[in-house]
Amino acid sequence: GTTACECHECFTGPDCSVSIPDCFANVDGGDPLVFEPYWRENADLGAVVIPSWYRMSYAPHDSAPTLYLDGFIAAIKDLHALVGNAVTAGRYIVAGTGSMQLINAVVHSLALQDAGRVSPVVAKAPFYNAYQEQTEYLASSIYKFVGEPDRVKGNAKGQGSQIELIASPNNPSFQIQEVPLNVTGPVVYDHAYYWPHLTPITKAVDNDIMLFTLSKVTGHAGSRIGWAVVKDFDLYQKLQAYVKVDTIGVSHEAQLRATQLMRTVIKSYSEGNSGRKGIFHSSHDVLQSRWARLQAIVKSSSRFSLQELKPAYCTFFGQISDPSPGYAWIHCNREEDKDCLAVMLSGGIIGRPGSSFGSSDRYVRLTLLKRQSIFENLAARLAKLAAQT
Ligand code: PMP
Repeated sequence: GTTACECHECFTGPDCSVSIPDCFANVDGGDPLVFEPYWRENADLGAVVIPSWYRMSYAPHDSAPTLYLDGFIAAIKDLHALVGNAVTAGRYIVAGTGSMQLINAVVHSLALQDAGRVSPVVAKAPFYNAYQEQTEYLASSIYKFVGEPDRVKGNAKGQGSQIELIASPNNPSFQIQEVPLNVTGPVVYDHAYYWPHLTPITKAVDNDIMLFTLSKVTGHAGSRIGWAVVKDFDLYQKLQAYVKVDTIGVSHEAQLRATQLMRTVIKSYSEGNSGRKGIFHSSHDVLQSRWARLQAIVKSSSRFSLQELKPAYCTFFGQISDPSPGYAWIHCNREEDKDCLAVMLSGGIIGRPGSSFGSSDRYVRLTLLKRQSIFENLAARLAKLAAQT
């Protein structure tokens, strides 16, 4: 049975139906539980049953040439083909234990390709906080996080070629990031959020180095499945080597589950899906309505402002798609509200401070990807803060 500690956030009691009074709205983190209701409503889809003898070996099967189960990489390619968000034909794909592992795998491998010096790793603020945190935590002797990209070749800092990390859509702002001018080295495009429920798909991206994650497609973040799509064979081999040295591959159960989930998504958009709504349509509706409600709250006063996102024609939906971002990137406008995180906390909202993303603490990031009850709590609390004089 369900014990109290397994209740959803802000609920308690023997059947988890009692809401905890004054429970803070924890909208830090990026846990994608907004997708859970879809899988509950379609509980017959995507399930896997695993016999005890299944795939015990480190190798996917005897004398397997790769680390991956048959069909896993094919499912990734088919999913991209369905959505039309990325070119994968003729590209190499490496899977990792979440794209988190691959962020470092790519940075490490690019630094190996640029041997003989400490490669600078850069990201333009606001950048996904893990780029800095992970890179600094692992304290490598062959690369170093240095912050803002330097666009001038042969620059004063003498950095030369830099490894640049770009999330597009960006985390935290969800802006699409165009190819920067005057880059002086390889660019890693993290397309974690380039899926139609989160942003309009305007083209199939075809960058040299691209990262994706199951976490933000189907929402199965706990399965820890991510993948890199690369053009360069040498980089591909270095990425494979990294994943082998680091974790001897990726959990076979996770690969199996991911394959099944991706096949389910693909099937839900093909003939004979018995009229069920696919996850992209269903989740877009939810996130778009959250965004619209948030905008209305923010516009009700001048205390806060939100990033500006525009509708665009989505090639996957075949129509103009309204913004449906995963995060609100809030700016505190009042002179005295210099610490936007503290302002949020005073109203019972836990966010992530602008400084984590290399920005000012006048900004705070709030996730819109959690459960509906958390969003409702956030909306009510933010409305109160906006109205405060
Ligand atoms: N990249 C970006 C931009 C993210 O926001 C996240 C998750 N918050 C990740 C990568 C990591 O995702 P995972 O390790 O779950 O694949």
